[in-house]
Amino acid sequence: MTYVLITFLCLLFLNIYTSKVNQSMFYSNKESVMTGKCLLAANEIAKQDDLNSTSVAMALSNLDSMKFSRIIVTDHNGIAVYDSLDLAQTAGKYILLPEIVQALQGNDVFSWSYHDGRMLSRVATPIISYGTLTGCVYMMEYDSEQGALIKNLQNNTLMITVAMGLLVVLFSIIFARVYTHRLRKIMDSMRIIHEGNYSHKVSLKGNNELSALGNEFNALVERLQTSEQKRNNFVSDASHELKTPLASIKLLSDSILQNDMDIQTMHEFVEDIGKEAERLNRMSQKLLALSRIETQADSDCEIINISPTVERVLRMLSANAQQNEITIYTEIENDCLILIIEDDLYQILFNLIENGIKYNVHGGSLCVKVHRNGDNAVIIVKDTGVGIPEDSLEHIFERFYRVDKARARKTGGNGLGLSIVRGLVERNNGTIGVESTVGEGTVFTVSFPVIDMEDEE
Ligand code: ADP
Repeated sequence: MTYVLITFLCLLFLNIYTSKVNQSMFYSNKESVMTGKCLLAANEIAKQDDLNSTSVAMALSNLDSMKFSRIIVTDHNGIAVYDSLDLAQTAGKYILLPEIVQALQGNDVFSWSYHDGRMLSRVATPIISYGTLTGCVYMMEYDSEQGALIKNLQNNTLMITVAMGLLVVLFSIIFARVYTHRLRKIMDSMRIIHEGNYSHKVSLKGNNELSALGNEFNALVERLQTSEQKRNNFVSDASHELKTPLASIKLLSDSILQNDMDIQTMHEFVEDIGKEAERLNRMSQKLLALSRIETQADSDCEIINISPTVERVLRMLSANAQQNEITIYTEIENDCLILIIEDDLYQILFNLIENGIKYNVHGGSLCVKVHRNGDNAVIIVKDTGVGIPEDSLEHIFERFYRVDKARARKTGGNGLGLSIVRGLVERNNGTIGVESTVGEGTVFTVSFPVIDMEDEE
């Protein structure tokens, strides 16, 4: 509607403007022609000794092309002395037409009006004879040819305006219908998706903003669907994982209550309850760590040398290594600085090294290397452990995935460690890779963009 209104206003303006310009073109042309003739007549009459109907008629007859609808000549008082139409009617009478009054005051006057398809032009000029105003000449002309031309032009412009206006309305209606139809399609899809049908897609043909909006909307819904799917899987996996230790606790505590058991067995049962509770505690902490990956702000990042954190982790895990008789080797370059959240680096190293000990063979070895490779700082954790089968390699970073559930249960694993590691590595702009051979061992490689202190300064 707004576009239609604006277009109409423009057309109206153009219409009025063109007809005004045309009229004023006719007007100025007419004025110069008629004023010239009137001045000529006034000069000719001024040459006459006397101002009466005969002398005026004679003066006018000396001039060519004096074909006016009416010519009136008055004396200096405004009394008619000549009237081309009918002097009998006006002779001796005051002719006080506005143009005559002004001409008797010494002015050249031109005026025009437009009536019934005819252009009526009037001109009056004083007669000055030997420096004295002796009267005035008034001429009037009906011009139906010019009038018809103006009328024609006005009609044509009006017709074009109306035709264009109708076209604008027609196109606006068609365009608005197509547009609202497409918009309604998107809105309908939104409603369907709002009701929970995430598989629904908006299909808008063409290559314009609305189809681009539709495609963006589809992509958004797809992401929503994936994250909804992930969330559902996560919730069901988490509750499944929590169920097992809780069921064990319930079973053990029921047994204690129902059976008349000796103190030694009861002691063992309570110890098992404690272990299950510990497992639950570990799991809830890892779940918390997972959810924190999404919320922690980047502003906590700092420039950190990798080596002290590796040493801290190795100190923390040395008891575990000793227990399993794992020998740990290190090859650590001391100048690998990276931009990272320190807790994240600790968690990454802790999980990888702990796994390297946990999934190692008794008396095996573990090597931790940190070195610079081009623009990256590379951390390698290599063990001589059980290895990971090829078909499991692509899954080990998934939540709750464990290669050997029985072994993981024994070692207290819940399949969350590596998914936390990957989340933390990616959050800190790093990459992680794994290579493994069953029976020989596993190598985890993590790299982060290295920071050069000179660049920083
Ligand atoms: P978990 O808490 O069970 O250790 P992770 O996410 O850390 O969970 O690891 C997932 C699975 O990947 C483990 O259950 C294990 O089977 C396998 N895995 C991880 N690290 C190693 C490794 N160094 N050697 C062999 N298998 C490993």
